[in-house]
Amino acid sequence: MFAIAGISRLLLTAALALPLAAGADYPARPITLVVPFAAGGPTDRVARDLADAMRRAMGAVSITIENVAGAGGTLAATRVARAGNDGYTLLLAHIGLSTAPALYRSLPYDTLNDFAYLGMIVEVPMTLIGRPTLPAEDFAELRTWLSQNKGRVNLANAGLGAASHLCGLIFQQSVGVNMNTVSYKGTAPALADLLAGHVDLLCDQTTNTSGQIEAGRVKVYGVTTARRLVAPSLAGLPTLDEAGLKGFNVSIWHGLYAPKETPAPVLAKLNDVLRQALQDPEFVRRQEALGAVVISDNRLEPAEHKRFVATQLRKWAEVIKAAGQYAD
Ligand code: ASP
Repeated sequence: MFAIAGISRLLLTAALALPLAAGADYPARPITLVVPFAAGGPTDRVARDLADAMRRAMGAVSITIENVAGAGGTLAATRVARAGNDGYTLLLAHIGLSTAPALYRSLPYDTLNDFAYLGMIVEVPMTLIGRPTLPAEDFAELRTWLSQNKGRVNLANAGLGAASHLCGLIFQQSVGVNMNTVSYKGTAPALADLLAGHVDLLCDQTTNTSGQIEAGRVKVYGVTTARRLVAPSLAGLPTLDEAGLKGFNVSIWHGLYAPKETPAPVLAKLNDVLRQALQDPEFVRRQEALGAVVISDNRLEPAEHKRFVATQLRKWAEVIKAAGQYAD
C-alpha cells in the first residue's frame, strides 16, 4: 500500500516536472510589442489599438508597448530578431521592413528569414500636409510656391525607409523639386514641428493626420491613394493623382512578427488572436475612423503575408534604385 502510494506520488511529481507541450500555457506572462517609431505617432497608435484588441481576445494577459525608435525602424526589427523565441517579444512593423534592405548598406537581420510572419494588420493611406502658415491653399498653389522656393523647402520624415521618407521621395520625383529633408524618430515629433512652423511639408499616415486635418490645424494638399477616402474626417480631400501627380498611389501596410523559431503552437495561437483582434468591433471602428483599412484577405495567412513582403522587397528595391537613393 505504502509502496503504491509512493510510486503514484513519484509519478505525479514527474508529471508536474515535465514541461508543458510548447505553447500549451501560452501566454502565461506579459507580452512586449516592439514599435519602430516614436510614441504618439501613427504606428504607435495602430500598435496600441491592436494591443487592446489582442488583450480582449486573450483574456487577462497584458501587452506592453516598447518604442524602439530610430534608423527608420531597423533598430526595432533588430531588437526583435535577436529576442528570445518564446512568443513574448513581438514586432509591429510597416512597409519600412521591405524598404530597409535597399536603403541600408548592411542590416543585422535578414528580413525574410529572421522572423516568423504572423499576418497583416491594416493598410493606412497617407496625406500630404503643410505647416499652418504655408501660403498655399491647394495643390496648384503649392506647386507654384515650390517653384518659387527652390532650395528652401523643408520636408520632414521619420528616417530613411520610413513611410514618410518613401512618400516624400515619390513626391519630390513627381513634382521635380528636390527638398531639404529633416529626419525625426517618428512622425509624432515631425508633426509637432510642422504645427510649430519649423518644417514646411510632411507626408504622413492618416492615423496621425486626420485629427489635425479635421480641426483645420494644418494645410492639406491631397491623399496619396488612387481613390478618395471615405472616413468623415478625410472625405472630400482630392487625391494627389487628381491634383495632377498622375499615378501617385502610396498606402502603408502593417504586419505582426515574432522571432524565427518561435514554437509553432505559439505562432498558431498568435495568428488566431490576431484574427480575432482584427474583427474586434472597437478596433475596426477606430481604424476606419482614422482612414485605415483592416486586413481581411488571405494576407492574414502567415505564408501569404511573407509572400507579399517578398514582392514588396523587390518592388521597393527597384523604386529606390530608380530614385538614386544610396545605402547609409
Ligand atoms: N509611421 C511612422 C511613425 O509612426 C512614421 C513613418 O513611417 O513615416 O512615426
